[in-house]
Amino acid sequence: MSLGGDDFLTKPIDPKHLISTIHNRGRRARSLLALMIRDSLTGLFNHTHTLHLLDQEIVRARQKDQQLCFAMIDIDYFKKVNDTFGHPIGDRVLRSLSMFLKQRLRKTDHIGRYGGEEFAIILPDTRESDARNVLNEIRERFSELLQPAGDREFNVTFSCGVAAWKGDTSQALCERADKALYRSKAEGRNCVTAAGD
Ligand code: GH3
Ligand code: MG
Ligand code: MG
Repeated sequence: MSLGGDDFLTKPIDPKHLISTIHNRGRRARSLLALMIRDSLTGLFNHTHTLHLLDQEIVRARQKDQQLCFAMIDIDYFKKVNDTFGHPIGDRVLRSLSMFLKQRLRKTDHIGRYGGEEFAIILPDTRESDARNVLNEIRERFSELLQPAGDREFNVTFSCGVAAWKGDTSQALCERADKALYRSKAEGRNCVTAAGD
């Protein structure tokens, strides 16, 4: 049953049977939900769920008349990491950045894996300048981390674009963050750009 089978509960129901059935269905629902909303490599929210959360947070920001920021992160020269050290080491870098983000950000922030080596962060109740400062601090600390690869070590950096919500759609907000990220890349990478800068 825990692998997916359903059964009929016929009266009179044995209490033990009822409890184990409910227990199994609860567990199944939870693991199904995790598969639907999480990225399997990093455990972060996947692309679809991140956008869903962004829409939810926009509704909340509007209701509470609060600020909201959205940040996009893209690892610099990640193809070179894979080419030099191999795909499994590349995967480890992705996991190390996701753990780093989880440790450094607030419980109320949402972190998602937006694409291959791209991450998205939703920062509720945050001003653009504060979001920029927090991400800049994270960027600096992450760039100092030594990534192990056999008997060698290397450093990885990321570029970031941050945008504040301006009462518009989630799509427009994503586009502004993406443009800011593009500016970080164009300005030489390993930096954070705020859309309003
Ligand atoms: P840039 O600084 O311009 O962002 O350069 P880049 O090399 O990071 O950008 P590019 O888009 O050329 O390469 C992204 C690489 O990310 C290519 C792809 O092989 C790698 N990648 C995407 N998803 C994964 C993954 O799940 N694991 C690993 N190891 N690599 C991945
Ligand atoms: Mg990319
Ligand atoms: Mg990249």
